[in-house]
Amino acid sequence: MKLQFSFVAFAAAALFALPTLSTGYSLIGGNLGIGTTGNGYQRDFRIFNNAADATANDNGTTSASYPGATGAKQAIWKSGEIWNSNKDGNANFDFDFQGSATAAGGLNGNTISWGTSGCSGGTLAYCQTPISDGWNILMCEGWTWNDGPTVGSGQIDIQGVATHELGHALGLGHSSVSCSGSCANVTTMCPTICGTGVEQRSLQTDDKNGLAAIYGAKPANKPTITGLSGSFLVGGTLVITGTNFPSTVNVKFTAGTTTNTGTIPGVVYNVAATATSVSVTIPSTAVDGNVLVWAPGISRLSNPFPIDIGSSGGGGGGPCGTVANYGSGSVGSQSGTVANIGTNGTSPSAANTNFALTLTGGNANQSCQLLMSSAQATAPQLWGTLYVRFPYTSMSVGATTATGTKSTVVPISAAMVGTTQYFQYLVFDPTKGYQHTGGLRVTYCP
Ligand SMILES: [Zn+2]
Repeated sequence: MKLQFSFVAFAAAALFALPTLSTGYSLIGGNLGIGTTGNGYQRDFRIFNNAADATANDNGTTSASYPGATGAKQAIWKSGEIWNSNKDGNANFDFDFQGSATAAGGLNGNTISWGTSGCSGGTLAYCQTPISDGWNILMCEGWTWNDGPTVGSGQIDIQGVATHELGHALGLGHSSVSCSGSCANVTTMCPTICGTGVEQRSLQTDDKNGLAAIYGAKPANKPTITGLSGSFLVGGTLVITGTNFPSTVNVKFTAGTTTNTGTIPGVVYNVAATATSVSVTIPSTAVDGNVLVWAPGISRLSNPFPIDIGSSGGGGGGPCGTVANYGSGSVGSQSGTVANIGTNGTSPSAANTNFALTLTGGNANQSCQLLMSSAQATAPQLWGTLYVRFPYTSMSVGATTATGTKSTVVPISAAMVGTTQYFQYLVFDPTKGYQHTGGLRVTYCP
């Protein structure tokens, strides 16, 4: 059983002309820890995106600041981010977005989801506490939820309401600063929403003071990430640059659907660092989201930094000339062998007009497609696994030979030098639709 802190729809109190209190923020007791064992790490939060309204997930605009997130997922990510040390929060506190969950996650799941349980009397949403062993936030169905960025009259802003509820999750009660007047000046932790809630996406001074009262001011030696370079690929070497890194750190990645069960997903422990740089191998659990430098020994967590796992955004395809296989192909119902993708062994360079991709092990005399993209994926399909990221280019390259092979010359222009592309062959298969190869990553040379 947990206590509920609700956020309600209408400022009914104003009708009764209660005396205005201005003492400010309140604390519910407890905080979200960053310990390394058991339930010690509680900065993680995630969304189970079961919102029913079409307007809750109609923002399809992607952003490099929120890789892999659109709709309600992006709105929820933003609602946590505003409390962070490099945003309005500006304290010794950072939330760690963990992406999408596949279930609501229970009382201690650190998950935001939608439902109707416990929703009555104008309740928009509530947060179940105590928080130190985890929390749960429910957004009440029955309202028309909107993922923004603009929110229509009569609708409720997901981001603003979630910002308020995450304020409870991190330890704030309601503020006693007056909720009347311009919405632009109303605190996020006011017990009632102002208008659609859009103005409560950002923090007021009273909200910031409350946050700092729990977690302390941002220390001068707080680790801070300022940039990423190197590889953004699973198994590649990511280089994190910044300031105030201790000599040994943990590096924490977003790791997808795991709810808060006392284990900490997506962590690489005990990585050597200099004060301004950390090199780390990206773990197989990492997904689009953020990366943080975590120094539990001195109770410090860096700001989260967005990372698009699987992209070559860090210049991360490796040095020019790199050709690397990833994933695995499938057995053809006719060939009885696994389809493989490779090259003809020549250099992937603009000076070479003969660089070709090759297929072996495919079904014989069947139509063949070559898929090409600027990023990799590992996306299950009905026919197998897609290893290139949407949007990709699909080229019909004609039928396979009588021995199930194919060769496709790739013209390399000057503009492609230094860039990385990702390829996969698909061969028609009368049983499963397609027989597929694994993926191939190629970085081009002059
Ligand atoms: Zn509340």
